[in-house]
Amino acid sequence: MENKAIHCSVSQCANHCASGYCSLNTVSIGTHEANPTQCQCVDCNSFCIK
Ligand code: SF4
Repeated sequence: MENKAIHCSVSQCANHCASGYCSLNTVSIGTHEANPTQCQCVDCNSFCIK
């Protein structure tokens, strides 16, 4: 079921709802950078390929 507190446009993710939300109750966010400076530096670590 969609979680209206988490907007997401990553349609390739198995947790993505067609309505534009995540279906998880909570997601884990992280970074792949040593010193993140912009939003492109952070990742949804709950991503799961379809
Ligand atoms: S797990 Fe992350 S990437 Fe996947 S639908 Fe939820 S918010 Fe989007």
